[in-house]
Amino acid sequence: MSQDCLFCRIVARESPAEVVHEDADILAFKDIYPKAPIHVLIVPKRHIDSLARLAAEDTELVGRCLLVARTLGERAGYAERGYRVSCNCGPEGGQVVYHLHFHFTAGRR
Ligand code: 5GP
Ligand code: ZN
Repeated sequence: MSQDCLFCRIVARESPAEVVHEDADILAFKDIYPKAPIHVLIVPKRHIDSLARLAAEDTELVGRCLLVARTLGERAGYAERGYRVSCNCGPEGGQVVYHLHFHFTAGRR
């Protein structure tokens, strides 16, 4: 847990967030500046800087993040209509918060 990492603080519940899913290894919460009618951030609880720092042993965790996306899609009624899951990596990839996360967006045509 890094004190200067915003998402580590949210995971530790030291900063507020509207949590929509939690399990042992993953937290998902609403993006504070939503870019779509539904915009959730899916975050592994363990700090990983970015996709560029992903290690082979992290692959199961990433797969489980995608399963959370699937669950969110089903729960929100978007399983058939569809949704987007994206991950910004690095300065030119638009990453602002350096704690690995997946954007789940739905409802924007
Ligand atoms: P990135 O650009 O790093 O992929 O995405 C970071 C996301 O975090 C942005 O969509 C931004 O709106 C969101 N965000 C930034 N600060 C906060 C915050 O304090 N709380 C929540 N829930 N989301 C945040
Ligand atoms: Zn972190």
